[in-house]
Amino acid sequence: MEKVVILGTGPAGLTAAIYLARAEMNPVVIEGMEPGGQLTLTTEVENYPGFIDGIMGPELMENMKKQAERFGAQFKRGWVTKVDFTSSTHKLEVSGLGEIETQALIVSTGATAKLLDIPGEKENIGKGVSTCATCDGFFFRGKKVIIIGGGDSAMEEANFLTKFASEVHVVHRRDNLRASKIMQNRAKDNPKIKWHLNQTPLEVISDGKSVTGLKVKDNSTNEEKVIEIDGVFVAIGHLPNTDFLNGQIDTDETGYIRVTPGTTNTNIPGVFACGDVQDKKYRQAITAAGTGCMAALDSEKYIEGEITQDWSQSL
Ligand code: NAP
Repeated sequence: MEKVVILGTGPAGLTAAIYLARAEMNPVVIEGMEPGGQLTLTTEVENYPGFIDGIMGPELMENMKKQAERFGAQFKRGWVTKVDFTSSTHKLEVSGLGEIETQALIVSTGATAKLLDIPGEKENIGKGVSTCATCDGFFFRGKKVIIIGGGDSAMEEANFLTKFASEVHVVHRRDNLRASKIMQNRAKDNPKIKWHLNQTPLEVISDGKSVTGLKVKDNSTNEEKVIEIDGVFVAIGHLPNTDFLNGQIDTDETGYIRVTPGTTNTNIPGVFACGDVQDKKYRQAITAAGTGCMAALDSEKYIEGEITQDWSQSL
């Protein structure tokens, strides 16, 4: 039986692995389909503290993994297909690895930005298409960008992008925005934001090197047009990667794991959650890493018996 298994290798899981390996808890880290998580999809990371000139996302993740390995964390490649939390220890069915039983489990499987699934979108990620304005907005200084979506994220990111871009165009598929009134008003009051409501995005246009436009269809007239821009930010929501839990952990209505505020405790004793799988608000590498550290400390206490029978008291 393992002491602690960590699911996921984004900043949350790898930080937990570093702390637990240094504490000689012999963590086993299961790397899923996308080792390194969302940061491997970005280029330069300029806001992770400690890197004066920035660092490439994949390099940052590779360094975190090597740091965890240096202290003895074991990495295994596999895909969790089933979990069983019905007894005091936890059982995982992992494709290619069989059944793994563990005293404590840290779920740090992250979230995936939803994509539109239109031509030109996936192939231009990193060449003008982004799902993170906070990460990539800076690269569009003085340029024209589009933000797709009508929710709070789209409004917040549109406002944020006006700090850098010369024009920000919001494209939304309906006439009414989903965002809260306050967020809508803030965006509507911003003179740099132009609106394209009731427009369905059809295709991201590129010249082969970078994005040059977005083709949209007007839903009332069916007319198509190309909006010429340099960047497309897709802000149509995220999906937490929790399907494999099959409803065995308490989540909110959108699937994010619920933790007791100020801890990483889930409703299952010995199961902890950190990073984007439990955070729909901040979603930053540094906040994920911070909660990864918390999960390591919480799980260490649990294994050492400091958090014992009465789990609810410790929540
Ligand atoms: P969201 O509220 O689900 O909004 C997603 C938006 O994308 C909607 O306007 C939706 O259109 C559009 N959309 C979805 N799929 C689409 C598709 N295939 N094609 C075109 N458009 C599509 O997601 P979110 O904005 O990321 O917000 C998620 C949660 O975080 C919300 O609870 C939000 O309040 C919260 N949040 C809060 C803050 C804050 O308070 N500062 C900031 C960000 C997010 P429809 O409207 O037509 O469905």
